[in-house]
Amino acid sequence: MKKIGIYVHIPFCKRKCKYCDFVSFDDKLGLQASYINSVLNEIETCDKSGFIVNTIYFGGGTPSIISEDLIVKVLNKIKSKFKVEKDSEITIEVNPGTVTREKLDTYFKNGFNRISIGLQSSEKRLLRLIGRIHDYDEFSECLKMARNVGFKNINVDLMLGLPTQVMNDLTDSLNKVIFLKPNHISLYSLILEENTILEKEVRIGLYTLPTDEEERQMYDLAKKTLERNGYIQYEISNFAEKGFESKHNMNCWKQNEYLGFGLAAHSYFDKKRFSNTTDLNKYMENQKENVIINEIQTEEEEKKEYMLLGLRKIEGVSISEFERKFEINPLFYFRFEISKLVDEGLIEVDLDNIRMTRKGLDLANLIFEEFV
Ligand code: SF4
Repeated sequence: MKKIGIYVHIPFCKRKCKYCDFVSFDDKLGLQASYINSVLNEIETCDKSGFIVNTIYFGGGTPSIISEDLIVKVLNKIKSKFKVEKDSEITIEVNPGTVTREKLDTYFKNGFNRISIGLQSSEKRLLRLIGRIHDYDEFSECLKMARNVGFKNINVDLMLGLPTQVMNDLTDSLNKVIFLKPNHISLYSLILEENTILEKEVRIGLYTLPTDEEERQMYDLAKKTLERNGYIQYEISNFAEKGFESKHNMNCWKQNEYLGFGLAAHSYFDKKRFSNTTDLNKYMENQKENVIINEIQTEEEEKKEYMLLGLRKIEGVSISEFERKFEINPLFYFRFEISKLVDEGLIEVDLDNIRMTRKGLDLANLIFEEFV
């Protein structure tokens, strides 16, 4: 039986970060109980079957801002509705400033076994500039509490390419995070999304961004620092101790299926990509009628997407797995794309893998363009 992941979206935050264009609200916390009822209803009435769940991920928004009992209700509903593998990875995203020891304890005792903490930077100046609600001390307190209640799989999110960020800021953040020994570190580049406050502030010249070259140097430095400290890079933006790679994300990069529940949640099932409405009222009125089909994949689209996702991984795309799935050799099917990228030094091919080179890692977008 096939294995799938489940994603649950909790669209509430304490305050909107200045760079954020995720579907999340800082003024609707009063709706949390009725929102969760809608999510429970969506799960209960889900008509998909024929799978076992092996990863569950509560993201947002800020899942830790709502009552822990509501979170547990949703997890229990998933467990009663679907067959969930015994050793599934069950993650919850939390933000410092919204967490108590009781909340963490409740998550852990009810089956969550992985926690992902949003720090972004250890520098007060940068945290303030991007509108985060916490400082490094609250983060460090949160991580220690998570460990004390029993979590043995902890991720920390960091960002680079922030306005006014210099190399020393990043080194400082990395050192302070590494000191606390989380098992996994995600390091994302800031993407300035249109219509966010930060995009406007940069556009009118209030702040300047690091140049592309500076950002590349920061990425290089981070990669070396993390690797020197025992974190293995397994995807463009993700580093982990051996055995602590995120199963949920790996499933997505392997083009495995997942179902998303909650506002704006995306799903990939039976070669279809679909998502729920981003309109909170509509979602709460009727979950079923507010699903948008984004893509029904043809065989060719499925193969291209498999490459696009698989090449994000440092191990790359396995030629034999591609052959097993699609009954054709990818070196033949994508012979033009692959020979062009090899000639440009962006990818390399060995006995069973097609993967990015060091140069390709810096210029990954050029690789992805070939498979869009
Ligand atoms: S905490 Fe996350 S989801 Fe909430 S506003 Fe900030 S970036 Fe957006």
